[in-house]
Amino acid sequence: MTFNQAGRSLEYYVDPEIQGLIKCHACPKTFVKRGQYNRHNKTHTRPYRCDSCEKRFAVNGDLIRHKKIHQGADARFYCKWPQCTFGGASRKDNLRRHMREAHEEALREEQGNFPSDFQRIYKKSVLEQKSTMDDSSLLLGASSGKTLMIKLLLEQGADLGKKFDIGRTALHVAARNGHEDSVRALLDAGANDQALDDNGN
Ligand SMILES: [Zn+2]
Ligand SMILES: [Zn+2]
Ligand SMILES: [Zn+2]
Repeated sequence: MTFNQAGRSLEYYVDPEIQGLIKCHACPKTFVKRGQYNRHNKTHTRPYRCDSCEKRFAVNGDLIRHKKIHQGADARFYCKWPQCTFGGASRKDNLRRHMREAHEEALREEQGNFPSDFQRIYKKSVLEQKSTMDDSSLLLGASSGKTLMIKLLLEQGADLGKKFDIGRTALHVAARNGHEDSVRALLDAGANDQALDDNGN
């Protein structure tokens, strides 16, 4: 019989029976190595959860791949936490839960100034998202001549001077589409009629 430095025989490494198999608590499978078992166990616990749709995954790579389906019109609320890689949520409460689970604990431990920072960043995340939505709604209103919608958005503080593709403002867009009422509403609200788009129009 040969022994290594730890005093174990060669058979110890070859024959799983000697080491004692690790039994899965959730299914009949058995494993020789702790690492194999840990990996397998994740197919039961699925610890990686999608914040947008609650779907769970055993492997983080699968979650990252899955998250791409939410990057589009669906994901509207993004986390403004520094360096956070959260892929965005389609609902405000999902963003809030993400922030609570991902950052609240860290904040409390590291800085001790919870909850003011948490509240501040959460509000910032939601507000920033809202203003992006308002701005693009303004463009939509201008291009389709929805004057009432434009007025409401301006009342709520949508950005009149905001430029969209090729540097056009909402006023440019309304004028090009021939929506006189919308043009008037935008001018009344103080839109700059001297602004030029990137083509000089
Ligand atoms: Zn199992
Ligand atoms: Zn998802
Ligand atoms: Zn985050």
